[in-house]
Amino acid sequence: MSARSFRWAIAGVVLGIVLAACETTKIAGGGPAPQTPPVSPAPPVSGGNSGGPLDFASSGNAEFDSWRVQFASRAASSGRQVETIRAVLDGLVPVEQTVQAQSFDNQAEFVKPIWDYAKSAVSPTRVTNGQTKLAASLTTFDSIEAAYAPPREVVAAIWGMESSYGSFIGTDDAPRVLASQAAIGRRKDFNEGELLAIMQLIEGGAATRDQFRKASWAGALGQTQFMPSSMLQYGRDFDSDGIKDLWSNTGDALASAANYLSAYGWRKGQPWAIETRIPEGYDYSLGDGRKLTVAAWKATGLLPATTADFADSDALQAELFLPAGSYGPAFLLFENFGIIKRYNNADSYALAVGLLADRLAGRPDLSRPWPTDIQMLTQQEAKDLQAALNKLGYTAGAVDGIIGRGTRGALQKFQKDRSLTADGFPTTAMLATVVEAASAT
Ligand code: CA
Repeated sequence: MSARSFRWAIAGVVLGIVLAACETTKIAGGGPAPQTPPVSPAPPVSGGNSGGPLDFASSGNAEFDSWRVQFASRAASSGRQVETIRAVLDGLVPVEQTVQAQSFDNQAEFVKPIWDYAKSAVSPTRVTNGQTKLAASLTTFDSIEAAYAPPREVVAAIWGMESSYGSFIGTDDAPRVLASQAAIGRRKDFNEGELLAIMQLIEGGAATRDQFRKASWAGALGQTQFMPSSMLQYGRDFDSDGIKDLWSNTGDALASAANYLSAYGWRKGQPWAIETRIPEGYDYSLGDGRKLTVAAWKATGLLPATTADFADSDALQAELFLPAGSYGPAFLLFENFGIIKRYNNADSYALAVGLLADRLAGRPDLSRPWPTDIQMLTQQEAKDLQAALNKLGYTAGAVDGIIGRGTRGALQKFQKDRSLTADGFPTTAMLATVVEAASAT
């Protein structure tokens, strides 16, 4: 499971409306506490062993109460102590679901381009703050870099992306938000697993119940926004004081993130990506997810964009990534890109972390600008594109208005079959071409 929330589990979004939706939801989660349901408190609910230790005062929500007694019983059966179960679940009032539903409805009308996210990731403020933080925690980063595989700039970039270097760690109660999701059956097993992880962390002495009162709207914890199960498995007590304090101890938080990336296989010394220059007339259909050695990519005509060479990477496997099609920067992605995605399973996130890390390391900015003047498809247009591609026999997958790898790959095949530039990038002109072809069948 990723370190993070289901926000990112809607995976692989390259041009994601999901991002817009999630930011809205995140803000909603961090806003004023939802009102207590206007229902008079009911008598204590029995867990089937009337008068037993796992009864709770009613939350005012019968569905939630019913789930809670059943889950408490399961938690006890799995070995959790009654006092821990009570500490985590007692007094919880479910999050008003309409707040979340409305947030999802308020998502941007237009599909948000990946470069909006990439550009904000490397804003001058975020780069400057990151460099200041790296300098201020020099010895901490020295120790973490010596102990774990990823370079300090990648760890710092995750820190910057997750919490603006510890500035925003959330104001929601993790058990409350997780229980609210579980109770209505949304990713029930996942959310219950996270609640059990919280109980284990408390029982193991790694954290206190109160620390979990500062979480994201999805239950992610601390400066590097770990889900509880990730904290349980990969969290580190960097200063050896007995507590995995991901909230206020920077060393604990950063060592945990570095340990997470190491555990998922970060290749020490390898880049996450290298920007590439693409020659005129290039066969963009090679950017279909296939993996070749850098030497083989060079043989197709690719050149490094900002460095003299591909940094002794000839033997490494890489994938050509065209986040803006033929209209913007192109990248050769290495294994470490996929490791960043283990943290948050979205290309846009991994790209943002990688670009920020490069800037923190003092590497040059991208050689080619993002095509910010291109008009993006609306969600409805994205659905029209998917439906037309599906009708033509190019498998774009679900007609959901989310332009992911499936839709882009289908568009590439369509383009290649018609001798068009096969970059898989959905412009409005390309939409018209595809829709016209579909209507002619
Ligand atoms: Ca500690």
